[in-house]
Amino acid sequence: TKEWILTNKPTDFPQLSGPEPTFTLKTNPLPPLEDGKVLVKTLYLSNDPAQRGWITKGVDPARLYVPPVPQGGVMRARAVAEVIESKNPKFKKGDKVLANAGWAEYALNDPQNLQLQPVQQLEGVSVTHFLGAFGMTGLTAYYGTKIIARAGPGDTVVVSGAAGATGSMVVQIAKKMLGCKRVIGMAGSDEKCRWVESLGADVCLNYKKPDFKKQLVEATEGYVEVYFDNVGGEILDLMLSRMKKEGRVAACGAVSNYNTSQPTGLRNWFEVITNRLEIKGFIILDFVASGKVGEAMAEMVKACKEGKITVDESMETVVETKFEDVPKTWMMLFEGGNTGKLVTKLV
Ligand code: NDP
Repeated sequence: TKEWILTNKPTDFPQLSGPEPTFTLKTNPLPPLEDGKVLVKTLYLSNDPAQRGWITKGVDPARLYVPPVPQGGVMRARAVAEVIESKNPKFKKGDKVLANAGWAEYALNDPQNLQLQPVQQLEGVSVTHFLGAFGMTGLTAYYGTKIIARAGPGDTVVVSGAAGATGSMVVQIAKKMLGCKRVIGMAGSDEKCRWVESLGADVCLNYKKPDFKKQLVEATEGYVEVYFDNVGGEILDLMLSRMKKEGRVAACGAVSNYNTSQPTGLRNWFEVITNRLEIKGFIILDFVASGKVGEAMAEMVKACKEGKITVDESMETVVETKFEDVPKTWMMLFEGGNTGKLVTKLV
């Protein structure tokens, strides 16, 4: 099987070539299938900015919420896969599963190690959505908006990374499921912004425009109750100065600082104190561990069936990718190359 191995942990942008490449393609023989194990073939890979955090050089593993990917290990990733062979009674050949297959063409292990889960079959819903809108990023949006930020009808909600996998669900959940008064998105191009508005945002601002700061100040006149932060850095810094007293910030991610050893922003941190802001970090895996995510998922599926939220092909960017180009597709996350969930389709 072909596998992408983590060979040089980066401090800044991952290097796809040169003398010290971050990842190296290797071909390894598959061991024989033992009792209890399954062999799966990777069909689709989830691309997550969080993966960048698992490979940073010199990070104290105790400060990470999951163990780092070990140097020399296969790059970790969630996937939709197909069972090719099984010596485990719970899974049979042909089953479509969610698996921690990593950047590997084939993965062979016991179901627990692969965190195998059968993929739900929902009429008219592509399996790839279980990596996005109906997967980890959808759940992140749901819990972050409803439980962490406690967004509700009277609230104006601002969300950064609004055209991404998580952000595009935050927009829909805030506006169409929780009935928030106003939803303001931010994204990296005018085209993305118009799409975010089509999902229900009252307005979406292109943060790359020279007058973005002025536009954001105008859009948040009177200040806002909720900020769902996907990007950190300077946008977070700016947003802290746009919060109402006792506003809620759902600190979800900081993608703007994932590829730099010199993070920006946070100069307005004192606003947190003066305005008694509540900033709560959270990790979706804690909710997953609670065993209750089924209810959240059911609520989202219902909202989708009722036509309240949209989960269709516009909600994902599926990139047909040769196995040799898996890291290149992943890097699109950091170039704004995706609208909705970025999914790698292995061809
Ligand atoms: P996205 O689909 O949002 O993809 C990443 C997007 O980030 C890009 O499309 C790009 O959009 C934007 N981006 C890239 N670089 C920058 C930059 N320098 N400044 C601002 N925006 C940038 O990915 P996800 O939905 O999977 O993740 C979104 C965030 O949520 C991440 O920070 C991630 O770590 C976090 N997350 C946290 C979880 C948790 O449990 N706390 C769980 C899942 C995700 P654009 O064109 O708009 O710039």
